[in-house]
Amino acid sequence: MQVDYLIIGQGISGTFLSRELLQAGRSVLVIDIDNPRSASRVASGVINPVTGRRIVKTWMIDELLPFAREAYRDIGSDLQIDCIAQKDIIDCFTTPQMRMAFTGRYEQDPEYLQLPADENDQRAWLQYDFGYGIIQPCFWVDMGSLLQQYRRHLKQHGQLVEEVFDPFQLVVKDDEVQYGAVTAGKIIFCDGVAGFNNSFFQNLPYAASKGEAVLVEIPGMPDTHIIKKGYSLVPWKENTFWLGSTYLWEFEHDAPTPGFYQFAKNWLQLTVKMPFTIVDHLAALRPATLERRPFVGLHPVHKAVGIFNGMGTKGCSLAPYFARQLADLLINNVAVKPEADVQRFRRVLSR
Ligand SMILES: Cc1cc2nc3c(=O)[nH]c(=O)nc-3n(C[C@H](O)[C@H](O)[C@H](O)COP(=O)(O)OP(=O)(O)OC[C@H]3O[C@@H](n4cnc5c(N)ncnc54)[C@H](O)[C@@H]3O)c2cc1C
Repeated sequence: MQVDYLIIGQGISGTFLSRELLQAGRSVLVIDIDNPRSASRVASGVINPVTGRRIVKTWMIDELLPFAREAYRDIGSDLQIDCIAQKDIIDCFTTPQMRMAFTGRYEQDPEYLQLPADENDQRAWLQYDFGYGIIQPCFWVDMGSLLQQYRRHLKQHGQLVEEVFDPFQLVVKDDEVQYGAVTAGKIIFCDGVAGFNNSFFQNLPYAASKGEAVLVEIPGMPDTHIIKKGYSLVPWKENTFWLGSTYLWEFEHDAPTPGFYQFAKNWLQLTVKMPFTIVDHLAALRPATLERRPFVGLHPVHKAVGIFNGMGTKGCSLAPYFARQLADLLINNVAVKPEADVQRFRRVLSR
């Protein structure tokens, strides 16, 4: 079998990259194991334009947000699913200082922020002591449905092989790669944290961060907004909410822990005024990087090998935009944005 591109991984990165290449008329084969505990499958799917205690805008959000909104609408329309919805964040202040930080930022620059007409209007279902602000517009991506439907689509077109990619079977030549019976012009690794050991890119400054979440049923709880109070409670599917997450740079393993479960239960008891049932407990490693910027582009020495990784905590907004950039590099030789271009590590990758 001969294809233009062999793509390893069908998380949110492999999904958008393969789509861009297919839309440009290139042939693609994706290899992916069906891993329900990958970062993309565990993620809450939120696109939040601000971050941190100082409520600053996230990197490139003015460009990323409209791009992502269109990209999810487009892919959803092709797959006949609704995979993006506006869900603004009700940001419950956990201390008076947080309230001051929010109102201070709002006075300086109200973009993406709003103050509610009535701060008490959430009290029927929520316990909060210091009021709240609104972050808007925020979006929720239905990652589960999107990844599943796109996978089905690839399968129907013979563009997906469901197996574990074995690097020992890969032969890299100057202008193509051979993998078993497949010959491809290029191989692009979109394999998330599994790629941290990839012999071509293992010298990159990765920094995996572990996140845990629970899925919780709360019948009658409104699903119009995401609630943030330290953790985020994200409307998921009918009556079910995603609650998380931790950001751990040091951890013993990537599995769910009893400690987080207890923490989540306490949070729910202290915050939600209605009966709830925890129905699942998830954990995954985010493919994060030390400088919090993705790795996008071709290997400086092995020109037939590329990478699309390092989406960190922001895969939902970064993947659509940088998939277009990588496709543009591969097809039209247009350079990737320097902060994301893997060529910035040319020296370390050439060793
Ligand atoms: C708890 C948690 C919450 C998060 N919440 C958000 C959020 O709200 N918003 C946001 O933007 N981001 C969020 N993230 C981050 C987001 O999940 C990641 O940025 C994004 O999913 C990374 O996608 P990816 O496709 O690069 O990697 P992955 O999702 O890890 O996908 C890699 C794919 O490669 C496959 N693969 C790997 N190795 C092999 C192999 N050898 N053979 C075959 N297949 C292989 C895996 O099975 C997987 O399907 C969250 C992450 C976590 C853990």
